[in-house]
Parts: sequence; structure tokens; C-alpha cells
Amino acid sequence: MAFIHSFESFGTVDGPGVRFIVFTQGCPMRCKYCHNPDTWAFNHGKEYTTQEIYEEIIKYRNYIKKGGVTISGGEPLVQIDFLIELFTILKKENIHTCVDTSGIMFNPDDTNLVKKYDKLLEVTDLFIVDLKHIDKEAHIDLTGLPIDRPISFINYLNSKDKDIWIRVVLVDGYTNDVGVLTRMREFIDTLSNVNRVEVLPYHTLGVNKYKELGIDYPFMDKKKPLKEDILRAKEILGAR
Ligand code: SF4
Repeated sequence: MAFIHSFESFGTVDGPGVRFIVFTQGCPMRCKYCHNPDTWAFNHGKEYTTQEIYEEIIKYRNYIKKGGVTISGGEPLVQIDFLIELFTILKKENIHTCVDTSGIMFNPDDTNLVKKYDKLLEVTDLFIVDLKHIDKEAHIDLTGLPIDRPISFINYLNSKDKDIWIRVVLVDGYTNDVGVLTRMREFIDTLSNVNRVEVLPYHTLGVNKYKELGIDYPFMDKKKPLKEDILRAKEILGAR
């Protein structure tokens, strides 16, 4: 069983090709720019069996032939058992599988959990990992949680030679900074499994959800990055 926020049948930005996207419910992070605060609460949304989700996906089989399935969130790895189960079925059907994650749920000291991740890797073709920040204090300030686990997760995927895309949200006062971007690039250069780096300019699309949920939006006065800043960030990070 899994708690699901929603489905999107023709996603084109979360992995290669046209994809069926499953948005899971529950996330322990509180990114100040999060545009899906309605996915934060655990054990909310609608509960589906893995088979029910598979049946939703398979209706679109012809459309996602050259793409695949991406599990996003929320934080999908909160429900890792469900991910292993679903992807095992999808790989038998030869469907490309991708997880869009912050890496926050990884814990290298928990042997049983690492075994589950090892299993997940066997049935996952691609991980899209958000690199929220590269500096410890700024990471906590921006997301509410320490950077250690996301960095361990990326290093773990690298040690397993698993393909990843790295995503950076460009936001003034945090990542839109030559020093920060350069340190990010230095970290990325230590990895051999990064197939693509993407820069996503900060946007304000989720603001109304905060109003509906009665939560203050921390970035109310934050401006979107300028075109030249986006180009500069892409150049520094070697992004497409
Ligand atoms: S990790 Fe994603 S879902 Fe969670 S708070 Fe950050 S942006 Fe929102």
C-alpha cells in the first residue's frame, strides 16, 4: 500500500521522454520554496495498492513507451517498500523507472535500510537527485534538515555506478551565488555517475497552496532569478 498525492499522465520534465508521474504523499523536509506543501503530511492522500497503481500506469503504456515512470513527491523514498514492489513489476514489463528524490531518507549506518536501497537500485534506471545547497548551515536554513544524508545518498549512488541527474533550484540569497555554485560544481566533479545537471529557476507557482493550507509562505518577497543569472549558473554547473 502507498499514500499517493496524485498522478500525472503525460509528464515531460521529470526524466527522459513522456512519463507517467506518481506523486507520493509525505516529506520530512520544509524547503522554503516548496511548491507542493500539500504533499508534506504523512499518511494523507489516497491509499492505493501497488497493483492499483500499476493498473493506472499500464493504461498509458503506449504513450510512455519511449519514456517511462517517475515517482516524485513529496519524498518518494519515505515509502521505499512500495517503490521496490512497483518497480519490480514495471521492470518485468520493460518500463523505464526513475525516482525523483532529495535523498534525505538515506542512512548509511542503517544496514537493513541500505539493503533495501540495494534492492531498489536493481529495479531503478535513473535517480533525479535535488542538490538543495552545498553549505551545511544554509542547507538547514533552506530545507529545515542537515545536508549529510543527501550527500551520503549521492555518494552511495556513485559508489554503485548508478546513473543520476542532479537538479539545482536557483534561488536568490541561497544558490544564486558564484561561490555556492562553484562549490557545487567541485562536488559534482568528484562524481562519475552524473549524466546531466539541471538548473531550475525559482518560481512562485505554489504560493496559493500555502494560502489554502493557512501556512505562511517564507519567500513571499523573493524575486525570480534573472536570465543572465540562469545562464551563469548553467555554465558554472555544466548544466544543459
Ligand atoms: S523535498 Fe520536495 S516536497 Fe519536500 S519540502 Fe522540499 S521541495 Fe517540497
